[in-house]
Amino acid sequence: MNLGKYSFGIGDRFNHQGKALLKALQMVREAGIEIIPVWNKSNREHQIVKSTPEQTRVEADEAVAALQWDLPYFVDADHISLLNVDKFINHCDFFTIDVADYIGKPPVEEDIEDLIGNSQKYIGKLNIPGIDSEFYITEELLTDIGTKFLNATQEAGKIYRYIKKCRAGKDFIPEISMDEVNDPQTPVELFCILGLLAGEKIPVQTIAPRFTGRFNKGVDYKGDPDRFRLEFEQDLLVIDHAIRIFGLPENLKLSIHSGSDKFSIYPVVGELIRKYDKGIHIKTAGTTWLEEVTGLAKAGDEGLNMAKTIYRNAYARKEELCKPYTTVIEIDESSLPLPDHVDKWDGNKYSNTLRHIPDHPEYNPNFRQLLHVGYKVAAELGEQYINSLEKFSDVIEKNVTENIFERHIKRLCKI
Ligand SMILES: [Zn+2]
Repeated sequence: MNLGKYSFGIGDRFNHQGKALLKALQMVREAGIEIIPVWNKSNREHQIVKSTPEQTRVEADEAVAALQWDLPYFVDADHISLLNVDKFINHCDFFTIDVADYIGKPPVEEDIEDLIGNSQKYIGKLNIPGIDSEFYITEELLTDIGTKFLNATQEAGKIYRYIKKCRAGKDFIPEISMDEVNDPQTPVELFCILGLLAGEKIPVQTIAPRFTGRFNKGVDYKGDPDRFRLEFEQDLLVIDHAIRIFGLPENLKLSIHSGSDKFSIYPVVGELIRKYDKGIHIKTAGTTWLEEVTGLAKAGDEGLNMAKTIYRNAYARKEELCKPYTTVIEIDESSLPLPDHVDKWDGNKYSNTLRHIPDHPEYNPNFRQLLHVGYKVAAELGEQYINSLEKFSDVIEKNVTENIFERHIKRLCKI
């Protein structure tokens, strides 16, 4: 089972936008570029929305059938651990093994000694073809890396083997994610992590490191784009080298989590993957829920009222809603409009404030991030929310397709 060179994590909180999302990828295909769809929904989202992995599978299968999509597609058990993977086993064929919580947990002392013993051949200068900077692997560095990452990679091995056993011969794509932590991983750390994953015999096809800068949910990249460029380029070369040295799968590629709306770095990512002829996986599922709210606001009347109710409730419950997302959102509370003000807005004002048009004078990334985590409020409105989605599906679906195709893919691919 091979993920393919370019792939996009798509999907939506309420299982209504499968066709509208796939349509965007169909439009790219008509322009001559194949991007493989991966419906991703994390365990966290399933818990908040009270949905099941089976529903995601049904949504994906139905969209694929309706649009007669004949390339591969996958359903991703996103950010799973041993505690919650069971319910995904039969419905997913892509597993994002999340071991961020194990980073920095000290491993068994002897395991570090073994690591140093087994890595003697790597001690010395590390030449990574294409990278001018010189890196050195020392026993001290290995101790450091082992202390930080060994526990996490061992856990990844445990989860991988567990999934493999449960899948009983049915193939799947393993991704390893380490993105939801505070400290970015350096290219040398990434190299060593890949070595450790190879040691666990995980045929990892995508890896999601924590890159430099902030990847806040639903908004643009925040950080130094030049530094990102340097690090991303080095990561691409590190992966190439790791494939050769550790015998990892040839199609191993980087995965960008919280990847939606990172408009300022898409051109950099696009340019570099083209330069080195590399693949990429980008997870963008979160942006689609915001297109639903934008669409509701745009629809006016009932739809706009629904959008206002969602904001009012989200505003009142900021702390609770933001809590599961601390490493991936940053909201300046003083820049949030008061719900009483928002109640006076028309549909244009609401959608202009929410929609991610970076230089639009009314766009407010704080408003957008709060609504990003506010899907719990919509989930609690239940039927009432779903009825609005269905009633205003025309305008919403148009938004969803346009957002992925025009604002995301066109910045990344040369179309
Ligand atoms: Zn992630």
